[in-house]
Amino acid sequence: MRCVVIGSGITGMTAALLLARQGHGVTLIEACDHAAPLLRGFERNELRFDTGFHCGGGVHRDGILRRWLRVLGVEASLEGITTSHSDVFMFSDGKEYRLPSGLRPVVAASERQFPGSGKPMENFLLLISQELASSPYLNPDIHSEPKGILADAGCLNDYLDKAGFPPHLRAMLSSRCLLYGVPPSLASWRDYTLVAGPYFQSCGSWHGGGAALVDALMHALQEAGVTLRLGCAVNAIEADTIEGVHSVVLNDGTRMPCERCFFTGHPSQLQSLLSHGLLRPAYLHHIADLPETNAALLLFAETYDALRDDESLFLLPSPYEMTTSDTEISWAAIMAKSSIYVYCGRPAADGRKPVMAVLFIPSANLPEGNPQPRPSSYVAWKRQAVESLRLAIEYRVPGLRGAWRIIDAATPLTMRHWIYGSTGSLYGVSHQRTSMPLFPSTRVPGLFLAGQNVLLPGVLGGIVSAAVAVGFAFGHNTVLKEFRACTAKE
Ligand SMILES: Cc1cc2nc3c(=O)[nH]c(=O)nc-3n(C[C@H](O)[C@H](O)[C@H](O)COP(=O)(O)OP(=O)(O)OC[C@H]3O[C@@H](n4cnc5c(N)ncnc54)[C@H](O)[C@@H]3O)c2cc1C
Repeated sequence: MRCVVIGSGITGMTAALLLARQGHGVTLIEACDHAAPLLRGFERNELRFDTGFHCGGGVHRDGILRRWLRVLGVEASLEGITTSHSDVFMFSDGKEYRLPSGLRPVVAASERQFPGSGKPMENFLLLISQELASSPYLNPDIHSEPKGILADAGCLNDYLDKAGFPPHLRAMLSSRCLLYGVPPSLASWRDYTLVAGPYFQSCGSWHGGGAALVDALMHALQEAGVTLRLGCAVNAIEADTIEGVHSVVLNDGTRMPCERCFFTGHPSQLQSLLSHGLLRPAYLHHIADLPETNAALLLFAETYDALRDDESLFLLPSPYEMTTSDTEISWAAIMAKSSIYVYCGRPAADGRKPVMAVLFIPSANLPEGNPQPRPSSYVAWKRQAVESLRLAIEYRVPGLRGAWRIIDAATPLTMRHWIYGSTGSLYGVSHQRTSMPLFPSTRVPGLFLAGQNVLLPGVLGGIVSAAVAVGFAFGHNTVLKEFRACTAKE
């Protein structure tokens, strides 16, 4: 069957690969002129910055992400896979704690730093492992339909309340869901277990990060016979409600016939891609009203030795100052109240290390769309924002003063440009417990949705979402056969 996959991020590449392996004729279409712009990251001053993947959870031999990399046939191409990542939590009240990765080390570190918390932590991690083991797309031993990952299982805060952790430890655990853009009060337990859960089991990366993964997947796609069209945005999906999808139209006017179409971009595009009447008004309203994750300001810098290799710093407000809306900060409050994430990568050959810092910001005052050239008010705002963030980070991490150099910065406008059709938010749609999720199948026969906007963000979220969408299109067992077979070989 002829299939078109729109968008070549981790989701699109995974879907294309799974479809081609099932014997379908697949074309993968990407608006940007190179594949997987987010996942590939970028290079400045001969230093590579991993944007879409700097570390992942579940990378140990039997880990969930590692298994899927094996299923996709790229595990062997990824060299130097580590599981030694560690997180440092620095609170504005001066308290500092560490969490390693690995279930036993996490329990031991918890008990050492917060006496009496070892047992509750063990129980908390057990619940996460049970949740992760309940879906057929995450556990090859489950042979049932994938209801689990689409259903609700309560709020993260309820689980944290029940665990009775001390405030700083609770804040450390909560901060992990800010990493995928949802405040703890709105995060669902199930989403937390899928996105943050594997990070407790093991966390790490490999040489070349996201770019190495893209290269390995591109090779696999080529071998599987997938046709790749880069630099072509899809402008229309042609379909009717009886026969379903029959073609897509590219921005150069090319019409590509297909019977199945997998869309991995932002769902807000659907209204303009499909002709009037194909989707119900209520569905279009739903898509238009989907909450977005916060926008972010990102700094890209270099340092020699001010930070450790492959380490994440969470600069958090004191847990007594945190509010449920602490991602909605004003510039004036940056110094005291914001949560800032800083990641230091592995050194390049000359010893320089890439540093990325992320601060969630409200995007309300930014210009609409993707204006070129950038308005002068925006340029001034960006300059001031970058400087404020640099000072805020140096205030919290004094060792960085004079020991790092900012090379570049990205704002929500950069994100809009970088990932075609994005609204500028960091991880697209915010999967809040209270909002109704999008389903992979649509009312239009043959049109399926996948990606971070449909299931969850993260490389694992994208891979699983692609597999689920292909499962909805051609049967779950067909997709899961490979996943299960892969484990049988171990
Ligand atoms: C700063 C940052 C750091 C991150 N760090 C990590 C990390 O360490 N670990 C981790 O697991 N995750 C991380 N993530 C999240 C992860 O990168 C994303 O969730 C994931 O890459 C999203 O993949 P996707 O395929 O769903 O979407 P995307 O990568 O956005 O792919 C969608 C693609 O569709 C294309 N497209 C859209 N519309 C059209 C159209 N009409 N025609 C043609 N093409 C179209 C876009 O150009 C885009 O390339 C990070 C994200 C960010 C922003």
